[in-house]
Amino acid sequence: MGYARARSVVVDGVTGRLVTVEADISPGLSAVFGSREQGDRVRAAILNSGYGWPDARVTLPCESSESITDLAVAVALLAADGCLPVERLDGVVLLGELSLDGRLRPVRGIVPAVSAAGTSTVIVPAGCADEAAAVPGAVVVPAVRLSEVLERLRDGTLTPHIRAALRAASQLDLSDVPGNHAARFALEVCAAGGHHLFMVGDGPGLMLAERLPGILPPLDDAAALEVEAVYSVAGQYDRAPGRTPPMSAPHHTTTLAGITGNRHRPGALSLAHRGVLHLHEAPEFNRRILDALPGPMDSGEVRLLGRERLVHYPARFQLVLSAATCPCGRDCTCTAMVRRRYLERLARPLEHVELRARFERSSPAAGPGEPSAVVAARVREARERAAVRLAGTPWRANAEVPVRLLRRYLPAVPEVIALLDVSVSAGLITATTVPQLVRVTWTLADLRGASQPTEEDAARAMELWQGARDASR
Ligand SMILES: [Zn+2]
Repeated sequence: MGYARARSVVVDGVTGRLVTVEADISPGLSAVFGSREQGDRVRAAILNSGYGWPDARVTLPCESSESITDLAVAVALLAADGCLPVERLDGVVLLGELSLDGRLRPVRGIVPAVSAAGTSTVIVPAGCADEAAAVPGAVVVPAVRLSEVLERLRDGTLTPHIRAALRAASQLDLSDVPGNHAARFALEVCAAGGHHLFMVGDGPGLMLAERLPGILPPLDDAAALEVEAVYSVAGQYDRAPGRTPPMSAPHHTTTLAGITGNRHRPGALSLAHRGVLHLHEAPEFNRRILDALPGPMDSGEVRLLGRERLVHYPARFQLVLSAATCPCGRDCTCTAMVRRRYLERLARPLEHVELRARFERSSPAAGPGEPSAVVAARVREARERAAVRLAGTPWRANAEVPVRLLRRYLPAVPEVIALLDVSVSAGLITATTVPQLVRVTWTLADLRGASQPTEEDAARAMELWQGARDASR
């Protein structure tokens, strides 16, 4: 006869929630588990670790049949059976799936699970230790087997894990991309204001896009943890980019579920959270994917219908679309109509894209481009100016300020409004484009170190918006 409880965590979307697992040993009753698979794993792991199987009843919250709670279920059972003083489980959270031979297997979602554990000591599978220790302030104890967990709890040898060194930042440098001044400038404005960018042409679109994370400001503590939580739940923690904003570049054959995610794991949109989503050869993507982009671009998250409730994944990214001018590749003989149709596939996402640029094959005579470090320094100064203006708000960049609050945080001076109004009257832009351009004028002013945008900034924003408009002609 005995009773014990242990704590674990279940993960919904990218949010962890503490759960309590109770084991109640009453003679004659057989064990009841959250799921049959979990029951089989836990029973085999206990027997193969050299412990006896108690006649026990196990009470679990209904959703805790997740494999991440295996370790807590097994330890609660063994404690109730007298293998461990029950008070040893106070202040401890147990995470990990059990294999049949009693070893601990890594699980997805360790970062949000450890975050939810708060100040408790968290025991995790050794393969997840670095990932778990990414959470600031976490006390993480790695273990390899169930029997080792029992020993450590009994003996109090809960030695915290020290995280291995962070990965080095990306080595990709803008100096590798010669010429292309217009596209490089658009990329710099994109980084400085957090704007979306469309690049069209035949040449280094991919190289330019890949170098965007290297000129963006490094992630702060909160953003870095959000990104690590997404990669953790996706089971791709080894690809989390550390302090560099992430880059997610799905292939055009990726399915809609691969882009948006499903109820078990986030997709490409969320792997770009706080960083860059690059769609290379963008018109080749499935139309349903292209048309699904504006929702997350507006809301900063992906909402999916799970089994019983909505699953939310964060997805606040900068979109970079790159495209060739036509579907045939080089030595084009396509008609203007074919080329226009090709790029028209991008119509929906392009309604939300403020910057357009053409790129071209660089000639070797152009010499090396300006290095990333120099561009990044200008971007950082521009972002600092924006940060002062946006202090006390949830937004970090000009592009994030909602239309209804533009007047308050990014007011347009009369000569800027005058020029944009003329452009609307002339049919060059629509009224819905005006707020996008106002945000860009502020980014241009920030890059110049000016206190507010001028008419020239408005003209430049118009040029950047029109940048690749004639590509289909
Ligand atoms: Zn062609």
